[in-house]
Amino acid sequence: MLYLSTRGKSAARSFTEAVMTGLAEDGGLLLPRAIPRIDRGTLETWQTLNYTQLAFEVMSRFIDDIPTADLKALIKKSYATFDVDEVVLHAHLDDLHILELFHGPTLAFKDIALQFLGNLFEYLLDQNDGFLNIIGATSGDTGSAAIHGVKGRKRIRIFILHPHQRISEVQERQMTTVEDENVYNIAVKGTFDDAQAIVKAIFGNKEFKDTYKLGAINSINWARILAQVVYYVQSYLHVAVHEKINAIAFSVPTGNFGDIFAGYIAKKMLPEGAVSKLILATNANDILARFVNKGDYSLGKVVETSSPSMDIQAASNFERYLYYLMDCEPDLVRESMLKFSVDGKLYLQDYLAHIKRDFVASSVSETEVLETIRKYFKGHRYILDPHTAVGVRAAEQHRDLGIPMVCLATAHPAKFGATVEKAIERQPDIPACLAGLAEKQSRCEVMDADVEAVTAYIEQHAIRPT
Ligand SMILES: *Cc1c(COP(=O)(O)O)cnc(C)c1O
Repeated sequence: MLYLSTRGKSAARSFTEAVMTGLAEDGGLLLPRAIPRIDRGTLETWQTLNYTQLAFEVMSRFIDDIPTADLKALIKKSYATFDVDEVVLHAHLDDLHILELFHGPTLAFKDIALQFLGNLFEYLLDQNDGFLNIIGATSGDTGSAAIHGVKGRKRIRIFILHPHQRISEVQERQMTTVEDENVYNIAVKGTFDDAQAIVKAIFGNKEFKDTYKLGAINSINWARILAQVVYYVQSYLHVAVHEKINAIAFSVPTGNFGDIFAGYIAKKMLPEGAVSKLILATNANDILARFVNKGDYSLGKVVETSSPSMDIQAASNFERYLYYLMDCEPDLVRESMLKFSVDGKLYLQDYLAHIKRDFVASSVSETEVLETIRKYFKGHRYILDPHTAVGVRAAEQHRDLGIPMVCLATAHPAKFGATVEKAIERQPDIPACLAGLAEKQSRCEVMDADVEAVTAYIEQHAIRPT
C-alpha cells in the first residue's frame, strides 16, 4: 500500500516511510492510496477473533512492508500492557453502548495508538541502526501516553514540555514519576501555548532538527490513526453482528479530529451503510461542530473547559477529511489549506450535503457535562469522565437517528477527579496504576519559557550517533 500527500506535491511512500516521516514535505498529511472495503462474508469470519488478531487483520490491509510474523508480534506486545485481555470493554447505559478505551497504562484512549507507535518506532530504528529524539508539548494526556509508549527504549529519548503547575496533579505525576533514563520532563513557566510555541520554534530550526533526528508524536502520524480504526471494527462486530442489526452510529468526543477520522476510515472499510453516521461531539471549542452544521470552519479563541484534551481550535487531522470531501483533488486541498493559514477560516457550504451524509454534530456546554455525569451516576452508578460525557450528551441529542449508538469512552474518570466530584460529590475509585503515584519519586526540569534555554537542555541530553 502506498501513501500519498493530501497536497499532492510529495512522492508516494511505503507504510514504514510514512510512519517515520510524519508530515509530508509539501506540508500535507499522508493517506493510503485506497481504503480496502471489507465484505460481509469476511466480516463474519472476523467475529471469532480476539482484539489482537482483529488488529492484525485490519492493519495488515494497510501495511505491506512489515513481515507478517513481525507485525503480529508488534501488535501483541503493544496490547500486553493493557489491564484487560480484550483491550477494550463494552458497557451499556439504557440504550447507549459505551466503548471503554481507557484500559491502557495511562488510562486514556491515546494508549491504544501510542503503545503501538512506540514499539513500531523501536522496531524500525533497530533495522537501520537509527535513533530518534521525540519532542512534544502537552496539556496532559498526550504527553503521558507518549512517555509510556517509548520509555526504556534504547534508541529513543523523549522530551515532553508541559505548562508548570497548569496541568492536573495526576497528569503531572503520570509523566514525572517515570523512572526510565530516556524520559525528560520539562515544566515551562508559562501556558500550554508557550510550551507549544517553543516546540514549534525548535522544529523550525532545520539544522538542529536534522542533526538530532527530531521526531513528533502528535496525531498526524498515520500509524496512530490506523491503530484506532481497529476498535471501531471491533465495536461494530460486537454490537451490530451480535445483535443482528446492520447499521450503527458512533459518538466521538473530538479535539484534533484524529479519533473521529479513524472512525471515518472504518466507515469506508466496513460494508456500505454499516456505520450510518458519526456523531461529532465538541465542548465549547466548537469549530468542528460549526463545520458539520453550517460548513463554517473558522477559528475562534481557545476556551478552557473541563475536557482539556479537546480545548483545540485548528484540528490537525481536519485536512485528511478535507481531502476526501474534495474528491481526492490535492490541488483543491492545498489551495484551501493555504487560504486557511492566512485567513483562519474556510467556508464550505457547497459541501454541506456531502458532509451531512457522514456526520451530525453537537457542541456541549459545561453545565451539560456536569448534568450528564450526574445522570448516569444516579441511574447506573456509572461514572463518565468529562470528555466521554461530551460524547454521551451529543449521542442523546441525536437519538432521532433511530439506530444503536456507541459512545467512545476516551478517559478513565479518575484522571479528572475534580470535575467528577463537582458533578456527583464524590471521587471516582482510584485504579491500581494511579494508587502509588503520590509516593513515587518525581523528576522534572523547571525552566523559563525560553527557546534557547530549552534547546540547550535538549542538546545536552539528546541521543546522537555513536
Ligand atoms: C485526545 C483526547 C480526545 C480528543 O481526541 P482527538 O483525536 O484529538 O479528537 C478526547 N478525549 C480524551 C480523553 C483525549 O485524551
